[in-house]
Amino acid sequence: MRKQLIAANWKMNGTRAANAQWLDAFRAVAASTAGRDVVVCAPYPYLPQLVAGLAGLAAEAGAQDLCIDAPGAHTGDVCGEMLLDVGVGWVIVGHSERRATRGEDDAIVATKAARALALGLRPIACVGETLEERDAGRATAVVERQVAALLQRCPARDLLKGAIAYEPVWAIGTGRNATGAQAQEIHSVVRGAIARHDADAAAALRVLYGGSVKPGNAAELLAQPDIDGALVGGASLVAADFAAICSAAPAR
Ligand code: PEP
Repeated sequence: MRKQLIAANWKMNGTRAANAQWLDAFRAVAASTAGRDVVVCAPYPYLPQLVAGLAGLAAEAGAQDLCIDAPGAHTGDVCGEMLLDVGVGWVIVGHSERRATRGEDDAIVATKAARALALGLRPIACVGETLEERDAGRATAVVERQVAALLQRCPARDLLKGAIAYEPVWAIGTGRNATGAQAQEIHSVVRGAIARHDADAAAALRVLYGGSVKPGNAAELLAQPDIDGALVGGASLVAADFAAICSAAPAR
């Protein structure tokens, strides 16, 4: 039985003061998240604060991206070695906001996932179709292409150390979530694509749903057989809402 993983994505939000308040509020309700794995992905400058603030809680810190390259002459970038050095264990790769605005294509995303895995970081690799692709009946083909690209650089067995997040682009930050049935359909596509390479890995891989998850819709989504957790953007900025989403996941 796969343990559910709930990951917060704070995106480019936070201040030291706001983060401290979030951590105080989360600490007060953290016991309610027992039986689920919890990760909080913050902007780079706040990662040390987050690592310290989550100490003693069953929750880990994550970053939102990493550089493809090893340490060296890459001004403005942050490499996986640095994330590990400050106590970060997880990293999001291929978020649709980076695919759309930073030119990250399938090959770059797969290379980032492979680099994270090679260093011992656990990648949450994002896939998902745009509204135009869904309306054109291409959601399955797009997600299969994105998963195939990941598998070209990362053995299925290694992807298990992290997770894949299905995030339909039309549901991110829009307030319009996929229904449980819509999400389940694509989650089984993701698992099927992995199973064609490695059935055991597919059975164990956690596939998260992301896209306007909130306390009010989390239970329906997280009850689907192939949904093993959530990547939560906007709602994760309020600690009580994030904890409520964690608690809506079946405990294992
Ligand atoms: C995200 O940023 O990964 C996300 C799913 O955002 P939201 O929950 O706000 O749709």
